[in-house]
Amino acid sequence: MNDRASVLLIYTGGTIGMWADPRTGVLRPMDLAHLEEQVPELQRIKVNLESVAFDRPMDSSDLGPLDWVRIAREIGKHYDRFDGFVILHGSDTMAYTASALSFLLEGLSKPVILTGSQLPIGTIRTDAKENLITAIEIAGAKDDLGRPMVPEVAVYFEYRLLRGNRTVKVHAERFEAFRSPNWPVLAEAGVHIRYDRSAILPFDPRALKVHDHMDQRVAVIRLFPGISPAWLDHAMILPDLKAVILTTFGSGNGPTEPAFIQALRSARERDIALLNVTQCVGGRVEQGRYTTSRAFTELGVIPCADMTVEAALAKTMFLLAGNRGTEGLAQAMATPIRGEFTLI
Ligand code: ASP
Repeated sequence: MNDRASVLLIYTGGTIGMWADPRTGVLRPMDLAHLEEQVPELQRIKVNLESVAFDRPMDSSDLGPLDWVRIAREIGKHYDRFDGFVILHGSDTMAYTASALSFLLEGLSKPVILTGSQLPIGTIRTDAKENLITAIEIAGAKDDLGRPMVPEVAVYFEYRLLRGNRTVKVHAERFEAFRSPNWPVLAEAGVHIRYDRSAILPFDPRALKVHDHMDQRVAVIRLFPGISPAWLDHAMILPDLKAVILTTFGSGNGPTEPAFIQALRSARERDIALLNVTQCVGGRVEQGRYTTSRAFTELGVIPCADMTVEAALAKTMFLLAGNRGTEGLAQAMATPIRGEFTLI
């Protein structure tokens, strides 16, 4: 009997699989076969590994909601045949994709591990090999009961496994490019891989349901000192806009200037949902704690606790696709559905 775990590698692109064009020095994606040639160690890993690739590997800055759905469908298509999934992905928008997949894959009970690298796999000091090999090991890891160790969407980078929808890219150069400031590390890889079971989502016994729609009529607006209410008005007249995520100061604050509040009010009158996510890397929104967030509460702005912008954006697109009105959206945002925020 073959008791090796089987893992499916889904290659979407990113630096991990790029090579430097000798003429220009510009990094370009290479195909999966070339990538696998660079890692002969893959032959020696004790898992049954299969792979599929996007027809055209992409820099993650070019990926969007349609690609998230495509990856989710690919997982759905192969779900029963594999114990776990590793998605090779550019690091730039990995936190968005990881967040989106966590919502699109309802009832997930197998590991979906996103990884990539800061240096291409063929370069001498690359971080790609370790990231790839350990991500595969985690995707195939089982507990004493033979159940997956990590039944959720996670990001593995530089010896750390993080919950996907809690993750932010915090560094453009360091190998340690990701953090999950508001949630503990799920596992740390050293001589052994040490899992923190208390931080990992419990096994979900439901069957997998793959959602395949995201509503893109959402915008993110970062507040800044001196923001012009006229500019805000202008940004929010986009026809069909359904929701705006305001990234706010500190614990969820913004200017109290009447023209600014009026711009938000007129958006609300057009039934645009407004959401409040802090610009701070860690900590949470406490709407109403300061005078500078009282008006938000009066206007029905939806506070997003300690969610990342990435998770709030993905969750809003996911929920709007379910045709909820603004009221329904506010209610659904107040309940964590994939461990994406902490209730206190
Ligand atoms: N620009 C690349 C990407 O996100 C960077 C990386 O892979 O780390 O696709």
